[in-house]
Amino acid sequence: MAIHYETQGRTALIRIDNPPVNGLGHSTREGIVSGLRSALDDSGIDAIVLTGGNGFFSAGADITEFGTPKSGAAPTLNEVIAALDAAGKPVVAAIEGTCLGGGLELALGAHYRVATAASKLGLPEVNLGLVPGAGGTQRLPRALGFATAVDMITSGAPRTARVLAAIDGQRLLDRVVDTDAVAAAIDFAAEIAATRPLPRVRDLIAAGDPAAAAPQRAALVARSRGFLAPIAAFDLAATAVTTAFDEGLAAERAIFTGLVAGEQSAALRHAFFAERAARKIPGIGPDVRPRPVAKVGVLGAGTMGGGIAMNFLNVGIPVTILETVPEALDRGLGVIRRNYQIQVDKGKLAPEVLEQRMALLTPTLDYADLADSDLVIEAVFEDMDVKRTVFTKLDEVVKPGAILASNTSTLDVNAIAAVTSRPEDVVGLHFFSPANVMKLLEIVRGDRTADDVLVTAMTLGTRIGKTGVVAGVCDGFIGNRMLYNYRAAGFALLRAGATPAEIDSAIEGFGFAMGPFRVADLAGNDIGWAIRKRRYAEDPDAPREEIADSLCELGRYGQKTAAGWYDYDGRTPKPSPVVADLLAAYWDKHGTKPQTFDPDEIVQRLVLALTDEGARILEEGFAQRASDLDVVYLAGYGFPRHRGGPMWYADRVGLPTVVAALRRFHEGEEYEPAPLLVRLAETGGSFD
Ligand code: NAD
Repeated sequence: MAIHYETQGRTALIRIDNPPVNGLGHSTREGIVSGLRSALDDSGIDAIVLTGGNGFFSAGADITEFGTPKSGAAPTLNEVIAALDAAGKPVVAAIEGTCLGGGLELALGAHYRVATAASKLGLPEVNLGLVPGAGGTQRLPRALGFATAVDMITSGAPRTARVLAAIDGQRLLDRVVDTDAVAAAIDFAAEIAATRPLPRVRDLIAAGDPAAAAPQRAALVARSRGFLAPIAAFDLAATAVTTAFDEGLAAERAIFTGLVAGEQSAALRHAFFAERAARKIPGIGPDVRPRPVAKVGVLGAGTMGGGIAMNFLNVGIPVTILETVPEALDRGLGVIRRNYQIQVDKGKLAPEVLEQRMALLTPTLDYADLADSDLVIEAVFEDMDVKRTVFTKLDEVVKPGAILASNTSTLDVNAIAAVTSRPEDVVGLHFFSPANVMKLLEIVRGDRTADDVLVTAMTLGTRIGKTGVVAGVCDGFIGNRMLYNYRAAGFALLRAGATPAEIDSAIEGFGFAMGPFRVADLAGNDIGWAIRKRRYAEDPDAPREEIADSLCELGRYGQKTAAGWYDYDGRTPKPSPVVADLLAAYWDKHGTKPQTFDPDEIVQRLVLALTDEGARILEEGFAQRASDLDVVYLAGYGFPRHRGGPMWYADRVGLPTVVAALRRFHEGEEYEPAPLLVRLAETGGSFD
């Protein structure tokens, strides 16, 4: 039974009991209405308290019911809330823990709300490409005022009852207590049992001036890059100020219905389930337990080592960090402290927490200090000889059973493992820069990596707030291998007569924060050039990337030289006459006519290059499932979440169309799309 009903004196208590998060699935909704009916029919009851068990009020709709008949079956959440609105006896919501989405909408349908100060209230529907669909956009502005409500609804971010109760003139919370909202609500219910008429949020007037928020709306449109839900949410919240309640509710319903059936929400639901699926490793059951990790060692206090260390310090795990010379150690520690200080300056971190975190960090020059680490992560120079030396030492020094991890981007994890006497304890942990910020963690499974080492890496990744994805040992693993092909598609477009600005603008229109050439300028064009030069030296017949090479020969490395694919004045890119000349000379030499490409064509050329390489990775067994490739791109490469990822996107385009497009893009070359892609297209299959 999803609902527990009991009476305490003259108060009825309806408790949602639907673990794990008291989702408002069909049986829960039915239970609330039937509990309400019992209470209203019982002449011995004066008031009703509605609450949730399991430490939650409710985390909202049951996402597993989405798209099934159950989600729309009566009573809908709107009908449940209408029943609360119509109740002739006072209903008090007692809020503890999380009260999100439909949960908050339900609470807004009660006549009164009592909450614990630490409870979190929010409307996170935008995260699934939706707007609140049960009156949230109409009631929250009435309870909190337009400004706060629109912020909460468009960002999806929850706030604590403590913070919300302090808002001037708020009508959301009637009482805030430190503990036991249920007991407080029962007391409160007794106090107000005789109040008539009963207050309803729908009858309040929403304070605020949406017209004055026009610049805020414009900024939101720019930031959303084609993602519809936040803007729809903004406009609906404005409706709450300007329009009668029932009319606003009807508008909300219409928008919600459109969004829930739309492509963007489907993509975001896919992203949600894909991230869950990524944590499961086929063939490894729940019987395989993670090894305990209470102490971490980090080798190298450079760009990556420092950021990696911060992840562990942030969750209270002590870190010993090793360098070769004291200066490098001092520099590394200085950077870590400065990064924390920036958070302190922004008011995001208490100064004493900064000190607590720094106190967990032990600098050393001596390998012996790593001996009792449960996990050591190496982030030294990207050089096989250095890695071999370091792993040989770790193997000698670090206790048996400890995990030895490498953050290498390009080197063979199996070859690194082979220098140790315990290759089963070696794994790749590929963080992305800046390592304390970026969500993605590629967990690189060597040929001999033990199952419990993988499980430990995945569990630990979650603990430090990362999105872990298992990858096999191949050049570039998943993300960078796909990226290489995406960049190559960008270069091919340049050769065919497009400009960097044209390509970037198409990709940004698709929803990426930055197009490939702006990204390259940010990361440094010299990095790719160094790799290409190595390849040319190894293989004189390797195809030249003429345009990019000429750019680097001019010293145009990107933002760091104030010149790259663009000219820079600070961080703002401007089209460069030098690059225009360089392209014109190339096109002239090769008899190419500069041409304007349709932005959709540009997007397809680049995004389908990701799909194509992704399919090869999948078929070669270096990724566990297609949706993992989507997770890598969403978590690590700025792929627009409302587009679902490169594999999901290809499914939407339709694989036969994808194969035909790829063949057309590569006309005149010796090229075939990934065999898996062709096979799926021919057999009516999909990646999903
Ligand atoms: P970095 O040059 O900033 O830092 C490397 C640090 O390792 C230096 O401080 C150096 O003094 C130290 N070091 C060198 N040899 C050492 C040794 N034998 N023992 C202890 N310390 C030693 O380099 P980085 O960018 O932090 O890269 C480190 C590793 O991370 C490389 O394998 C790289 O491929 C990988 N990586 C880098 C990025 C990135 O974007 N920078 C992203 C993912 C992975």
